[in-house]
Amino acid sequence: MLGLYVHLPFCRVHCTYCAFAISTDISLQQRYVDAVIAEIASRAAGEEVDTLYFGGGTPSRVSIENLARLAAAIRDRFAVAAGAEFSIEANPEDVTGESLEAWRELGINRVSIGVQSFADRELEPLGRLHGRERAREALSAAVGSGVRTNVDLILGLPNQTAATFQETLETAIAGGAGHLSLYMLDLEEGTPLKAQVVRGRTHLPDDEGVAALYEYAISRLAEAGLAQYEISNFARRGEECRHNLRYWNRGAYHGFGIAAHSFVGSQRFANTRNIRHYIDAPLSARDFSENLGPGEVRRETIFLGLRQTSGVSYDHLVELCGQEGVEWVERGLQDGWLRRAEERVVFTPYGFLLSNDYISQLF
Ligand code: SF4
Repeated sequence: MLGLYVHLPFCRVHCTYCAFAISTDISLQQRYVDAVIAEIASRAAGEEVDTLYFGGGTPSRVSIENLARLAAAIRDRFAVAAGAEFSIEANPEDVTGESLEAWRELGINRVSIGVQSFADRELEPLGRLHGRERAREALSAAVGSGVRTNVDLILGLPNQTAATFQETLETAIAGGAGHLSLYMLDLEEGTPLKAQVVRGRTHLPDDEGVAALYEYAISRLAEAGLAQYEISNFARRGEECRHNLRYWNRGAYHGFGIAAHSFVGSQRFANTRNIRHYIDAPLSARDFSENLGPGEVRRETIFLGLRQTSGVSYDHLVELCGQEGVEWVERGLQDGWLRRAEERVVFTPYGFLLSNDYISQLF
């Protein structure tokens, strides 16, 4: 069984914090979709698929006609399983009763809304086009339409306080989404927001405050029925994103479009981020490829397993890491960044915050 990811990079504006592979030139849309369809045709061999994900960029910016062409190309070339999860990322300004109906007709049954915050004064420095009210309307329309709904939020934003974050969280909970993704603001090199912070023109909340809010969110969301299942992801039972779980459980997937990653057999590879190169030669626009040896498989199994609240089995960790693994677990249990859940080893909420640092001690 496979997962399919399609990267749809078009955005109306370039948000100040964003380092994704995007394009604001919508005039490229038709040729880009032609190129993705060619790439799909070149790689498919009729395999069964049970998760599909249109990500971006802003897939909701792509016309219904082009989304329909992509969905048809996938169905022509792959065997899409009955009940497959089919997600689309959408910005609040695009989520209306009409767009939801059109997406549903294509078989899309899960909408992930890029809300980021329900506070206008936090959205404004990000350059987002929506405000609190539009985000609330989008959430209400999506939940009301019956599609599975995710809300993306960001922690650590300029102007964010404990009170505004709690208010955002309560609005998301009250909106009834079955899934919530809570990301830490990542100040990426080369972004306008990073430059503003470096110049002292924009201030971010301090790390301790952000850490406390992350831990608060984990318990508040659990109380509201949205259990944490991964560092940044929370869901009602059965609402977990099956496509993303596939990534973390090292399942196979094809990615199509610029910057899309694939993992098939023992090979990981990624496409170019350059949209013009991709449009000109979608079948040879690869910019990275590696065959995983036993060492990488070991690292990935632990790194991806520990992202999840199901953690990794203690025996498996020790088998993979030997005595170093035993000492690492002892240290983590003693210092409070790991916990045991029966025979499994899991990061505590505090541990999740610094999990990259802790995992790097293992390898
Ligand atoms: S809408 Fe999303 S992908 Fe597009 S620029 Fe903004 S953050 Fe980046």
